[in-house]
Amino acid sequence: MNYTQIFNAAPAVEALAPGRVNLLGEHTDYNDGFVLPTAIPQHTTVAIGFSPDDRHHFYSAELEERVDFDPAGASPEGFARYIDGCIRVLAAAGHKIPPLNIFVTSSVPIGSGLSSSAALEVATLRGLRSLLHLPLDDVEIAQLGQQAEIQYAGVSCGILDQMASSLADTDHMLFLDTRTLDRQILPFPPGAEIVVIDSGVARSLATSGYNQRRAECEAAADQLGVKALRDITDPQQAEPLPEPLRQRARHVITENNRVLKALEGITAAAFGKLMNDSHASLRDDYEVSVPALDTLVDILQTTPDVLGARLTGAGFGGACVALVTEGRGEAIAQSTLDQYNRTGNHGHILVS
Ligand code: ADP
Ligand code: MG
Repeated sequence: MNYTQIFNAAPAVEALAPGRVNLLGEHTDYNDGFVLPTAIPQHTTVAIGFSPDDRHHFYSAELEERVDFDPAGASPEGFARYIDGCIRVLAAAGHKIPPLNIFVTSSVPIGSGLSSSAALEVATLRGLRSLLHLPLDDVEIAQLGQQAEIQYAGVSCGILDQMASSLADTDHMLFLDTRTLDRQILPFPPGAEIVVIDSGVARSLATSGYNQRRAECEAAADQLGVKALRDITDPQQAEPLPEPLRQRARHVITENNRVLKALEGITAAAFGKLMNDSHASLRDDYEVSVPALDTLVDILQTTPDVLGARLTGAGFGGACVALVTEGRGEAIAQSTLDQYNRTGNHGHILVS
């Protein structure tokens, strides 16, 4: 299925944006902290043309769903609100957006924690930038995408996903300070590549657990008298806090330190060790792992040529990311999956 088959015309522009995986820096972005994502090969493509009437017409090839609506009316439901949200935040910023035909197709798995939502927003905004010659840079695109997701999809997300989709590429890591938006494009640890495996466990508690962790971090920062946990670098300072705030703060503080350590040009083995430490911290201090993720990480961490592995994304299900010796990704992903699925799970390979 393509734009022309749906809309009986050729699109005026096409734009794409990748999904992402976060290598280090989990649950730090809403603490003004540091993150280290990379783009993945899977991406979302958006084809855009002018609508022949006064309505918007959106079509998603993956969902096989079409939405037609009046731009002046209420926001639509479902996937269309991510696109409509981008249009509305642009309109709120003073840009005039005409009625549009938009066709979406994507190889980013939807709802697996690889950020299909940000890929959709960034691809949409890139397409609108080129169609309407909007004076937007890549950081503004990320910020508008985040606003669209917060205001119109109702997800109170940080800036990680949209910045990664807008600024990262598949050959580098993107270091981002989520407070200042300072960033660096860095090479991967030498001689290493990435594997991502979905645990097959749906992120059922992800929203409630995520909101609870956010509230705990705010309370911890409050009690420690800082604006955000990012302002503390010594985990000892969290010791006076009551549980579970002490554990939560310790994760965020040590996780930020791990990201900063990873910037020091360390070996792939040392980077892998930071990922293993990150998983232990997410499991024991932040308590966002589940048994299936621990099983998957255990298998990865005990497989030769795996340098490090951890859950990635919010947790409570979702995927694991591993750093492995270059050239070994596909074989390691397959053997890990075979072993993991023999434990009664239904995982699948996302990146190898
Ligand atoms: P993810 O981890 O993949 O970002 P989210 O729950 O944040 O998961 O976003 C998934 C939502 O984004 C989908 O439910 C859908 O509304 C929208 N979306 C993402 N990709 C597409 C697509 N290709 N077609 C239609 N909607 C999409
Ligand atoms: Mg998302």
